[in-house]
Amino acid sequence: MNAMQTRESVLGELESKTWDVVIIGGGITGAGILREAVRHGLKALLVEQEDFAWGTSSRSTKMVHGGMRYLKQGNISLTRESVIERENLIRELPGLVEDRTFIMPFYKGNILQRLLVQTGLIVYNLLSGKWRKNKCSVSELATRAPLLKSGQLKGGFLINDAVTDDSRLVMRVLHEAIKQGARAINYCKAETLLKEENAICGVRLRDRVHGDTLNVQSKLVVNATGAWADTLRKQVQQKNDKHIRPLRGSHIVLSAKRLPLLDNISLIHPEDGRPVITLTWEGRVLMGTTDIDHHDGLATEASISKKEVRYLLDALNFQFPDLTITEKDIISTMAGIRPVIDTGKNDPSKESRDHVIWLEDGLLTVTGGKLTTFRVIALDALDEAQKVLGKLPGLRGKQKVFDNEIDLKTNSFPNLSDTSVKRLFGKYGTMAGEIITQSSQENLQAVPETETLWTELAWAAANEMVVHLDDLMLRRTRIGLLLENGGKEYLPKVKELCREILGWTDETWKQEEIRYLEIWKRHYSLPN
Ligand code: FAD
Repeated sequence: MNAMQTRESVLGELESKTWDVVIIGGGITGAGILREAVRHGLKALLVEQEDFAWGTSSRSTKMVHGGMRYLKQGNISLTRESVIERENLIRELPGLVEDRTFIMPFYKGNILQRLLVQTGLIVYNLLSGKWRKNKCSVSELATRAPLLKSGQLKGGFLINDAVTDDSRLVMRVLHEAIKQGARAINYCKAETLLKEENAICGVRLRDRVHGDTLNVQSKLVVNATGAWADTLRKQVQQKNDKHIRPLRGSHIVLSAKRLPLLDNISLIHPEDGRPVITLTWEGRVLMGTTDIDHHDGLATEASISKKEVRYLLDALNFQFPDLTITEKDIISTMAGIRPVIDTGKNDPSKESRDHVIWLEDGLLTVTGGKLTTFRVIALDALDEAQKVLGKLPGLRGKQKVFDNEIDLKTNSFPNLSDTSVKRLFGKYGTMAGEIITQSSQENLQAVPETETLWTELAWAAANEMVVHLDDLMLRRTRIGLLLENGGKEYLPKVKELCREILGWTDETWKQEEIRYLEIWKRHYSLPN
């Protein structure tokens, strides 16, 4: 079974029909809208200029969360919406969205801040409808988080949220949409909005693999390009003077041996009092994020700066003073751009994280928001889309994003551990059964020091529109982020598994390796 159509077959369909909706942008926002559009009977297409989830949606902190900080900003509605979505996703996506506890240690003094967090946690629990213990004692911390700075430690708050793999979440949403008849294509850039008598009637695309242009007709065009949203808006008469303020958030990935965590830690940065997260992810530790104005322009991929590396290491060494973590301990880095609406606040962290929807001259722009709330954003977007498309019956009905019911209580795959089976079903839905049964026992082994199975690489290469090696190493699987030097050591094995499936010659493979390692060095390693 081919989970996604091939790229060539989608290319062949682009100009041959009039679509109800073309969605520009293959991050979580675009994927969510595609999924809801096809559910509501629309002929829907998604186009992405790079790879699916290439933008911010593969570079987040990977939390599916209510957002304690939004409570602090007094934004109860965003927190409530997020908590409800978090609970939905934990229920619908076992193995991909997993409940996790975050410990926030507190120290002597700063009673006001402590009271604020405590009140916030009560509200948090109330909003989720689950009553959970929200404090732990110093002695409990000694077993749960023994590496924490202990001087003047007074206890810890327990915050319950969830952790995911962001780019696999995008892929799962895309798979659900495609299963119902939607189409999606990567490496296709929307260049020009097509207009007829001043109304938008489609979009001119550039196929970045073959270089061709294609004119795609559509009743509605959705601009779900995240931080890039203003670029397309320039082609229409804007109804407001609001603009995106691109804020960069960067992370570092460390070995779990250097920073062994039993529980995730939410720590307060000593320099500016911002919360910074340290969480176990895919067998490694992910730490971030920064939150600064991104002045480097949006034409090139974002990278972490030296200053941000220093900022993150300072927080780690403040909180875990005995570990003396240095740059040498950093396996990889990643930087994403947050699309927030500019209201001119001095402190970037004070800008609202709410999503916005603007219908301007027939272009529906949907940007801002969070990974967690993609379904709410999609439904709000379709609500507005009705002004162009007419009424969409049953729009706010209680429907799940993910239709497949999987019983993970009984493991029908004796050759694989329960944890691996759950993880595969989370990441690939019902297709996981096929991944397991079609794999050799050898390829059901994990890539060293990760939880990724070798067979996942081969399956993604065959089924998920992989155009470049970086698609496979950084987004379909995450081993490029999890292994030293981007997994260079294992590229011969990846080649053995995937080259033929991808239809690449030895020469193409060589070119792809050069491209991938260059991208990795520039954007996923330490700055020079
Ligand atoms: P993107 O994922 O950026 O997708 C937009 C896509 O549009 C890009 O892939 C881009 O290539 C494409 N595009 C642009 N122009 C064109 C064009 N002309 N033609 C075709 N395609 C085009 N949220 C959470 O819920 N939990 C978190 O833990 C969390 N952590 C975060 C940490 C950081 C550092 C950042 C920056 C954000 C975080 N967020 C988090 C927020 C969340 O990641 C974003 O809100 C979300 O990923 C935005 O998705 P998007 O689809 O709107 O944008």
